[in-house]
This record gives sequence, structure tokens and C-alpha cells, in this order.
Amino acid sequence: MTQSEARIGRRRLIVASGLAAAGLLCPAQTFGGLFGKWAVTTDVIVVGAGAAGLAAAVSAAQHGAQVLLLEKMPDIGGDTLISGGFFGAVDPKRQKAQGIDDSEELFFEQTFRNGDEKADPRLVQVLVKEAGRSLAWLESMGMRFQPTVIEIYGAHWPRCHKPILPAGSGYIQTLSAEAIQKGVDIRTSVKVANLELERDRVVGVAAEIEGKTCFYRARKGVVIATGGFGQNRELVEASDPLLRGLTSTSAPGATGEVMLAAAQAGVVLRDMQYIQCMPGCPAGRRHRVRLHNDVARFILVDEHGNRFVREDERRDVLCRKVLALPRKYAYSIVDSDGLDSYNILVQKEAWQGIETGDAWKADTLEELASKIEVPAEALIASVKTYNQAVEDKNDVLGKSPRELRFKIQTPPFWACYAGMSVHYTMGGLTINEKAQCLNTENQPIAGLWAAGEVTGGVHGANRLGANGLADAVSFGRIAGREAAGQNT
Ligand SMILES: Cc1cc2nc3c(=O)[nH]c(=O)nc-3n(C[C@H](O)[C@H](O)[C@H](O)COP(=O)(O)OP(=O)(O)OC[C@H]3O[C@@H](n4cnc5c(N)ncnc54)[C@H](O)[C@@H]3O)c2cc1C
Repeated sequence: MTQSEARIGRRRLIVASGLAAAGLLCPAQTFGGLFGKWAVTTDVIVVGAGAAGLAAAVSAAQHGAQVLLLEKMPDIGGDTLISGGFFGAVDPKRQKAQGIDDSEELFFEQTFRNGDEKADPRLVQVLVKEAGRSLAWLESMGMRFQPTVIEIYGAHWPRCHKPILPAGSGYIQTLSAEAIQKGVDIRTSVKVANLELERDRVVGVAAEIEGKTCFYRARKGVVIATGGFGQNRELVEASDPLLRGLTSTSAPGATGEVMLAAAQAGVVLRDMQYIQCMPGCPAGRRHRVRLHNDVARFILVDEHGNRFVREDERRDVLCRKVLALPRKYAYSIVDSDGLDSYNILVQKEAWQGIETGDAWKADTLEELASKIEVPAEALIASVKTYNQAVEDKNDVLGKSPRELRFKIQTPPFWACYAGMSVHYTMGGLTINEKAQCLNTENQPIAGLWAAGEVTGGVHGANRLGANGLADAVSFGRIAGREAAGQNT
């Protein structure tokens, strides 16, 4: 550096420090970009650090890109971290060992049909083909899954893989470790508010840090992976007025502002009216207990102690049936074997639920009935009839014989509220098979990709259980790879 360059540099630093002191520039801009608009210039910017964003960041880095990953919360993880962690994929190795027939054709058919054929079939094809590869990709990075698969609530087939780490922590741990190892720059507490465009191309993002605006430039592309909008009550209610006042199972970051900014920039929103609910807290309560995770382990009863719906019914049908009950909630019932089969976090939720008044435990069904205030004779009869159905493999409500596997017979018996909570938003940004965001002419918007729950068109009107994580990791991988491959 020459003396005059050093002098200019010093002068810039002093001016920049003055501007920063006056609160006009973000800290990174002051000391990194000095006078330029851009605080950082990199190849690929990924927005949101859940499964889709981390997968995109790792994949882009694996394809040689320099990557900046921006997350608005103080911690990474999003809904992925608090999810059940179940990953839907055809897996000959595990499924054959359990005598389960499966194929990509069946997976496609079930995903497409259960979404009322409203999904984009090309995206469903990608999902079912890539899910198995994504599973292998995660395993290649050291993530471990249980040796057996199950059918979770709303999945309609035993192809749900359960990580050995509880909930969704395995995804976040594995992918963030790989991202860091690959040199991905992960920044938290950076809330992206807008996309930056030059001549119809997305060239970066504007973000808020401690009340200041920072601009980040992407030479190759931006990947939006900001998850759903389940915590944006206004948008949920505008999209489906039936869900007014319901609680949400989503993490606090699921508010959808980047999706709306992308729509402003020309990306078409689709399927916004399709919002999935799951058993959760009834309106007004706060502690969620998940006794419903394994469809073979629980029954649902109404305020009279009667079963009123097959527990392996579609999630949207179940939601409507529960919301049609006078109190808009039912009860999930399991026995002690059922609870023991759940992961340690779910078990903890149940024990805490006893303290908060959201779960109940009793040595007899009679005592349990009295605790949840349903007629004892009816609850006892419901369980007896159900246990007989398990023995006969024939349920009067039509639950699949495949899931009539476990009687409810070992005390203590457990119950918890099964209200309906906003769980997954099927609508969002329109993408193609390469995860490129599309405009009203169905053309890709240059420099912009999206993956995971922020997108629409993968699940149609109703998402199969365990397809959310398969979607996020698969389309995240694709988006990262495609963005890294772009040249400006
Ligand atoms: C309780 C629960 C249980 C679930 N269980 C399962 C399951 O077992 N199997 C399954 O397949 N699916 C499950 N799902 C759904 C699944 O978890 C989600 O579909 C999936 O995790 C979505 O991944 P994502 O990366 O798209 O979003 P997320 O994991 O939500 O990540 C998005 C990230 O973007 C961040 N972000 C948002 N806005 C901004 C912004 N403006 N700037 C910067 N960052 C931003 C968020 O803070 C968040 O960290 C469950 C969901 C919930 C809520």
C-alpha cells in the first residue's frame, strides 16, 4: 500500500466511524465495505437457517461457491429444530427388512392424491426421487437414523425415518457442522427485509441489524429458505378464515416477510389457501403435548369418550372433524408402552403437561376418564372396542389393519388435549424443478431460488406427514447447487 492509499484508507475509516456513530451505517458496512452500498459481496446468499437453508448453503459450498447464510433469529434451526424430525423416503434397505413394500410410484401417488392433485406433479416427482438421495446425503455427512421406519400421523405409509438425535436437532447439527467446515459464513440476528434488483435480476438482499439497514451482494444468486408463515396470524386468517384464533406449532420466525418481498419482486404466490393443522394446544392454552406422533400408538376421543375418526385419516379431514366438535378439541390417549416409544422430548412434554394441566396420567381408564371429564363407561368401551379391532385387524372406523398393531392396555394411561394448531403452510413461492422462482409468465427470475416451506406447489392441498423435511432438504440441495452453478 502506498502512503497516499494508506492516508485515504485512514480518512475513510474516520468518516465511516463518524457515520456509524451517527447510526447511519450497519457495523459490517462501516468496517467491511467502507463507502460502497454493499456490506459484503459473496457468490451465494442463503436466507434462513433451517433444513432448506442449511442444505442449500452446504450444497452451494460443495459446488465451489462462497456462501453467506443469514438468519434473523439469534439461533439457527427454525421449524426444523422443533420438528418431530421424521423424514419420508423410499428406502429399500430399511423397509425390506420390515417387510414393507414401497416404491417411488406409490410415494408419488400418495403424495399427489392426498394433496387433492393440486400440487405441481413435476415438483412431486422431484420430491419422491430426491428424498432417498437426500437421506443418503445426510447419512454421508454423519447423520444417523433409526434402523426401522414407522407411519407417523398423516403419512399414510410406513416410510418415516426417525433420527437418533431427538426432534430435528440431528439435521441442524449435521448440516451446520458441514456448512462451517466448508467455510459458509453463518450470521444470526440478521433479518432480511427486501431483495435488491438490478435490471430484473436479483443481485442481493437488504437486511436489518439492530435497526440499521445492511446490503449484501450475491454474484451468483440468492436462495430464499425462510420457512412458512404459520406465526403470521393476519396472513393465516386472510388465507383461511376458518383458522381464526387458532394457536400455531411453528417457531417464532415463521412470519413470511421475505416470501411477501419476493412476491413484490414478481414471484407468483400459489396455494396460499392451503394451511395444515395438527393436534396441538386448544385456543388459549400454551403447552403442547404430542401423544399423537405414531398413528399405531394412539386413539382420539371426543368429549363423550367416543372415538369419532380413524386416527390415520388425512390431516385436513381430521382437522375439520376436530374443529367441528363443540369445544373444538379432542383428547389423544396412549398407554405407557405408547409413551415409552416416543422420544425423550415428547415424554418430557407429557410430564410437564401434567404440571400445566395439558396432560393427564392415571392407573386406570376409569380414573383417566374422571380426570378429563368424559363418561368412564364410554372411554372404557372405546378402548375395549379398539383393542378388539387390533386383535381382529378390523376397525369399525376404518383404520388401516397395517396400523392396528398396539392395544391400549398397559397402565399408566395418558391423555392430552388434541386441539388444532396451525402447523404447515402449503402455499408460497412458485418454483420449477430447479428451484428457480417463477414470474407471472412462468419464467425464472434471474438470480433467485427458493426451497422448503416458503415455496408452494410441492404438497398441494394437504401435505403428507414427513414430507416437509424431505422437501426442505431435497429442494435446498437443488437450489444451492443451481445457484452455485450460475455465472453472472
Ligand atoms: C412442531 C413441528 C413438527 C414438525 N414435524 C415434522 C416432521 O416430523 N417431519 C416433517 O417432514 N416435517 C415436520 N414439520 C414440518 C417441517 O419441520 C418444516 O416443513 C421444515 O422444517 C421447514 O424447513 P425450512 O428450512 O423450510 O424452514 P425452517 O426450518 O422454519 O427455517 C426457516 C428459517 O428462516 C428464518 N427466517 C425467517 N424469516 C427470515 C428473515 N426475514 N431473515 C432471515 N431469516 C429468516 C427462520 O427464523 C428460520 O430459522 C414439523 C413442523 C413443526 C412446526
